[in-house]
Amino acid sequence: MIPELTSMDHDDVLALMTDLNEPKYRAKQVVEWINKGVRPENMGNIPKPLRDKLAEIPFGGAEIIDVRHSKKDDTMKFLYKLDDGNIVEGVLMRYSYGNTLCISCQVGCRMGCRFCASTLNGKVRDLTAGEMLSEVTAVERLIPSGDDKKRTVTNIVMMGCGEPLDNYENTVRFLKRAAAADGLGISPRNISLSTCGIVPRIYTLPDDAPHVTLCISLHAPNDELRRKTMPVANSYSLNELIPAAVFYSEKTGRRVIFEYALIEGVNSSDADAKELSRLLKGVNCHVNLIPLNSVKERKLNGVSRKRAQEFALLLQKLRISATVRRELGTDIDGACGQLRNKHIDSQGEGEE
Ligand code: SAH
Repeated sequence: MIPELTSMDHDDVLALMTDLNEPKYRAKQVVEWINKGVRPENMGNIPKPLRDKLAEIPFGGAEIIDVRHSKKDDTMKFLYKLDDGNIVEGVLMRYSYGNTLCISCQVGCRMGCRFCASTLNGKVRDLTAGEMLSEVTAVERLIPSGDDKKRTVTNIVMMGCGEPLDNYENTVRFLKRAAAADGLGISPRNISLSTCGIVPRIYTLPDDAPHVTLCISLHAPNDELRRKTMPVANSYSLNELIPAAVFYSEKTGRRVIFEYALIEGVNSSDADAKELSRLLKGVNCHVNLIPLNSVKERKLNGVSRKRAQEFALLLQKLRISATVRRELGTDIDGACGQLRNKHIDSQGEGEE
């Protein structure tokens, strides 16, 4: 049995209604409320006795407790409080084609990437599928689209705190709920999942979940360099990771995105670009470059935007599709884990 309300899909709620001796049509009503992130006490068309019974089941919510607006662009950053008091973060980015919400899938992270703020204090716990869903619904309640048929959040990227493939079952359940017509109804084309490269899970993902865009954090053109900044590279070499990316692309028909954060003096030379082009030759992919967002706790610096553009140009000349990602929300700690860490520091809870 699913332990909490927001993690239940329509079939789960139907089974619950049967258990509770409730008519079947209630399932649809309850699911509609869940998909709006509404807690049982506020489920308008549900009779009080059933609301009371539903209220006894853990909800799995995420409430927005702080909002930061970027002064440079329309980006908004949210701090969410989970029902047990843990804090995660999300970022809403505005594009001409819609609004992309970046969500978190774990409280902290245990992958240990040297440049990443999310992993500084390790992993506290996984998020449930319902909690991930609640991150989306909380934003939609805060910023209603004004049109019942349109969602505020049109795109989702799993690029916040945590490693989705290290929280596989919940991630798969979330992706199904996000894409389902009786869930959030967001096309898998508009959902991206970013992984540091947990190879066995890349192989199982196409069968288990909707065919979302797979983003792989590469950040280095060879194993030796990658191992310096990403401990996961000790478990899976590029000889394993690149074929997994090819498999995903062939199985889903989707281009894989490689993320590459340009770090000054580490992975951003012309020779690195050339080596990267050899590594990715023939792979149906695109390289997303981003100057590393310096994290105060780590002594690694990003390259200039100009250098990032040069690196992109060099890759393009070498016939690798590459662009420099727009930097949004840099004034509001847009990089993953930064805002949560500040919040925790300011609460005097630095030690978790
Ligand atoms: N665990 C997943 C998703 C979370 S991070 C993953 O590793 O892909 C989302 C992206 O931001 C990853 O590519 C990650 O490597 C990158 N990232 C983390 N810290 C960063 C920083 N300081 N500057 C730029 N990118 C960073």
